[in-house]
Amino acid sequence: MESKSSAIKAWKKAAYIALLLAAIGYLLVNIYTPDLYHPVCIFHRLTGLYCAGCGGTRAMAALLQGDVLLALRDNALIILLLPAAFYFYLRGFLITFFGKTRLPAPKNTAPWLWALLASTAVFMIIRNFDFFTFLKPV
Ligand SMILES: [Zn+2]
Repeated sequence: MESKSSAIKAWKKAAYIALLLAAIGYLLVNIYTPDLYHPVCIFHRLTGLYCAGCGGTRAMAALLQGDVLLALRDNALIILLLPAAFYFYLRGFLITFFGKTRLPAPKNTAPWLWALLASTAVFMIIRNFDFFTFLKPV
């Protein structure tokens, strides 16, 4: 019988692989059909306001097309957080599949998570003011 921790490890590996496959699929779709589909934000549709994620899909598509400025214009927060997200994904992937990594772990994550939460909230609030039109998705 399989132990609980090895079942969790199997799920973790499956999640990392699924995320990797989703990213590759997303890359391929955006490379070959960049204007195919961008999902509509339910929050924006209901309220008329931009959430912190609005424009994120278009920002990623623009980045994949090599247009960094348009990507930043569509959703600067997501583009600026991308290197950190990639780092933590890679670190978790290496630990999950190889049991170790040389990539250092952050010492104290709580302040960083609070800063992330606060900056996401501030980004969401200020991008809805008319003065900050440059933070609204194109
Ligand atoms: Zn949104």
